[in-house]
Amino acid sequence: MDLELARQVLDHLRVGLILLDWEGRVISWNDWMHRHSSLELPAVKGQRLTEIFPEIQDDRLGWGIEEALRYRLSSVLAPALNPTPLPLYRKPIDRARNERMQQLIYVTPIHHSNCACLIQIYDLTAPRRRERRLRAQSSRLMRVSYQDPLTGVGNRRRFDQDLSQLFRQAKEGGRPLALLMIDVDHFKSYNDYFGHPAGDSCLIQVAHALQEDLRREGDRLARYGGEEFAVLLPDTDPKDACAIAERLRLAVARLALPHPPAPTGWVTVSIGVAAMIPDPNTLDYLLVAQADLALYSAKEAGRNRCFRYDPGSSRAAPCPAG
Ligand code: GH3
Ligand code: MG
Ligand code: MG
Repeated sequence: MDLELARQVLDHLRVGLILLDWEGRVISWNDWMHRHSSLELPAVKGQRLTEIFPEIQDDRLGWGIEEALRYRLSSVLAPALNPTPLPLYRKPIDRARNERMQQLIYVTPIHHSNCACLIQIYDLTAPRRRERRLRAQSSRLMRVSYQDPLTGVGNRRRFDQDLSQLFRQAKEGGRPLALLMIDVDHFKSYNDYFGHPAGDSCLIQVAHALQEDLRREGDRLARYGGEEFAVLLPDTDPKDACAIAERLRLAVARLALPHPPAPTGWVTVSIGVAAMIPDPNTLDYLLVAQADLALYSAKEAGRNRCFRYDPGSSRAAPCPAG
């Protein structure tokens, strides 16, 4: 390839090229470098790169050049660690905004009598922006996929994952884990009386009241399905779980949502409580089955109350008062 052709090819490359001599002085850089640094070759030729860009003196690019010149070692400057080593800008407006180009830089030693080092600079601004956008999108999707669209609390998928994680932690730590199963009383007749949209709004208000009342970090509320909610309470023994259940029951009652067909005349909930320190062979769904049994007993006993599962008798009993 003749020299003129080689020069034209280098100037048309979509990558920055800098050639340094054995003292680290610029022999040449291509048109890409001129465009993005606003410095023409004649203005920089013969100067050390560290004189042109003093800020690289003590950073990884400066060391990389030093290592290439002294020890013939090549290096790569990944943008994750140092995204903008050189003051290069994609467009003049970016310079005005001080938004530097995101760069991937290769420093390679060259074996030539005049030239000692080749620096290649790739513009990663667009891919990095795309990557950030995709990452944000994916974490948004992730959040949404664990959220109940109606009430905004965790959904069944969230509950299943939390249960398995917290159950494992309780096993490993020998700590208690409690579960409350909460079911809105006579909800079918609420829907029948007020219509489904009002039923939806009632569920939203109940979920918010429950969430508001759960102030301890680590407690997790989810919509288990339909008009049923579940609360996982790590590090909570049966006595405290009963106290929290009672608090939640009263929080819903305090909403004072009229429910004419219900015997109380208001929206109420029944709550089943179970708590255990799981042993290594226990499956997490045993806790769900126990809380379910307690909930069923609370319904049987007249609703608007909290029952807890008693492992001694394998039956449920009312949560002790106070
Ligand atoms: P109980 O006191 O025994 O719990 O009686 P219930 O009427 O609450 O229970 P049942 O299981 O008979 O009825 C539950 C009702 O919940 C029926 C269903 O239409 C309603 N439901 C479930 N999911 C939703 C929802 O997302 N929106 C509305 N508006 N209603 C729902
Ligand atoms: Mg119900
Ligand atoms: Mg139900």
